Amino acid sequence: MYCCDEHIELAIDMYVDEKELAPEIEKISAGQQELSTTCDLCENQAVYIVGNEHSVGTVDK
Ligand SMILES: [Zn+2]
Repeated sequence: MYCCDEHIELAIDMYVDEKELAPEIEKISAGQQELSTTCDLCENQAVYIVGNEHSVGTVDK
């Protein structure tokens, strides 16, 4: 999921609740922000990617 600076802690909590493991947290770079991604929890510009967005479907454990 994507989240802004304000919701990063909440996003982590939600992820841990759901998956019962710590998420990967990746800060969105300036280049990636061209996509104008918004926070999943509000309308702010997303600053972080929480979870394993890049490895969906490739969980090997
Ligand atoms: Zn937010």
